[in-house]
Amino acid sequence: MMASLPPPPPPPSFHTSLLTATDCRGHVHLILGSSPLAAARANQSLSAGATPVLIAPRTSTPLHHGVQRHVDSGALRWLRRDFDDADLRTLGRDATDGFVDAVFVTGTGAEEAARISGLCRRLRVPVNVADSPALCSFSLLSTHSDGPLQVGVTTNGRGCKLAGRIRREVAASLPPGLGAACARLGDARRRVQEEDRAAAAVAAATATEKAERAARGDLDDSVDQTAAFNRLVAAGSDYKAAKNRRMRWLAQVCEYWPLKRLAAVTDADVDALLESYPGGISTTAAAADQPPSPSPSPRLGRIILAGSGPGHPDLLTRATHKAIQAADLVLADKLVPAGVLELVPRRTPVRIARKFPGNAERAQEELLGQALEGVLAGRTVLRLKQGDPFVYGRGGEEVDFFRRRGLGARVVVLPGVTSALSAPLFAGVPPTQRGVADQVLVCTGTGRQGRAPEPPEFVPSRTVVFLMALHRIVGLVRELTTHVEIESEGEVSGRKEEAAGIDGPASRRLWPLDTPCAVIERASCPDQRVIRTTLRFVAEAIEQEGSRPPGLLVVGGACEALYTPEKGRSWTVEDGFEGLGLDDAFVPGIAELA
Ligand code: SAH
Repeated sequence: MMASLPPPPPPPSFHTSLLTATDCRGHVHLILGSSPLAAARANQSLSAGATPVLIAPRTSTPLHHGVQRHVDSGALRWLRRDFDDADLRTLGRDATDGFVDAVFVTGTGAEEAARISGLCRRLRVPVNVADSPALCSFSLLSTHSDGPLQVGVTTNGRGCKLAGRIRREVAASLPPGLGAACARLGDARRRVQEEDRAAAAVAAATATEKAERAARGDLDDSVDQTAAFNRLVAAGSDYKAAKNRRMRWLAQVCEYWPLKRLAAVTDADVDALLESYPGGISTTAAAADQPPSPSPSPRLGRIILAGSGPGHPDLLTRATHKAIQAADLVLADKLVPAGVLELVPRRTPVRIARKFPGNAERAQEELLGQALEGVLAGRTVLRLKQGDPFVYGRGGEEVDFFRRRGLGARVVVLPGVTSALSAPLFAGVPPTQRGVADQVLVCTGTGRQGRAPEPPEFVPSRTVVFLMALHRIVGLVRELTTHVEIESEGEVSGRKEEAAGIDGPASRRLWPLDTPCAVIERASCPDQRVIRTTLRFVAEAIEQEGSRPPGLLVVGGACEALYTPEKGRSWTVEDGFEGLGLDDAFVPGIAELA
């Protein structure tokens, strides 16, 4: 079937640029020519905090009004003469020995523009020539600015109109207020750092004072010193732990919160964010451990434990959608897709789990405490989980939690489309296919307390889907393909004893290094990415391509059931999600436009 297809067209050739953001405050920018473009360049230069200098001879025609306005206000210095090569070396700042920081050529003849461009390049002065990409050492992006947030687009010389259009569409898709949110979260980050520095200084000063008092004999060794010492250690480690937790929490908020929610961040949110989670469980979680009410009363509310699917909101079940409409309170896990949270009516409060490595237990307690409070107060609480609630979603534990409190009858569980089976589908990998794979194993790459779980044995007709595995891909591949001792001592010895009854650990069948595999990230989200490779290269591919959580790993021949790898390539990357193919939107083709 593949042989009858025509060969694919050769990929278009193009170059891409290194996109950077230049802090231009105090820089001197030369603008040559007085066309309307000069006004635009002066505006851009001024808004980036630079000092533009215009060089253009006095002519009988008046300056463009935009340029004139800047000259009149004193923001733009106008040298009324022709450009002189020495200007490049003399009009700049002392800090750059008089060299200017950038040159914008806006209105000279082509030959002169080429000459100036060559001169600038020789002197390492960045140069931009209007409408001549070949003469530019840098180009300007079509930008959207909102407070400290800037989004820039370039087509690398393929058309600024197109770049402008794309920039507008990108900007329009961003929620209002995102710039202010960047500023707020940036402040929060700075505050965390400052508080941490201050805490470190206090800890150090206290230690010194204690040491000095001890040296002077002010401390009664037997009574105080060890206690003081212990306290200090505890204070130090507490502060370090708190610091880690806050920074991680902040990072995770930025990674996982829906942009809309991020854009609506308030000062109160930031204050909550900066809570340092001192030891012990939170007050709401403590309430969770109160004695249960003996039997459900008519005043009790309900808990709906529902799966929200892998990402695309159309993958919600109708049941979960109904639950979203009906809930009085939504308690969502961190990974619940943004598109799903957007379906929650505005009146319904939404809380997102503060889950990050090292805080999973606490986040879980916090949410369960809130859920319990809600149900006891007669509310319908929706516990929204990503994918399916019973597939690595702690759904079973939650049901158990409510049962033990006599609330089992108040719990409803609704399934969701699990990423374990749908992510492969969206990557074109059928986990079972006759003649290729007749079994699917879903497992986790991370065991309890971060330990490595037992690696699954190689079975040629088996497809293995690893969730929560990509962060330790190197170890995982090693365990699958070689006989290694597993990280945790307890587990290793346990396994040895158990294995002794059979053939010993070396009998586990290993996965060949050329077993096909695929890394599927953010399946069914607009930024879905699929890396197709083999076990030999998968760790290197992830290291080079970076990660885009959440993602999973599929291993087995099924990865090549519908896909033929390109010869000579260690891996391929497919970026973007084609959608479900059900959109109603009608986009006219060229024929309709004609
Ligand atoms: N209950 C969820 C799984 C929760 S465990 C479900 O049924 O899908 C979280 C792991 O699921 C992540 O570490 C990742 O491995 C996987 N995952 C979740 N959503 C994903 C997605 N959209 N694309 C790829 N992997 C995903």
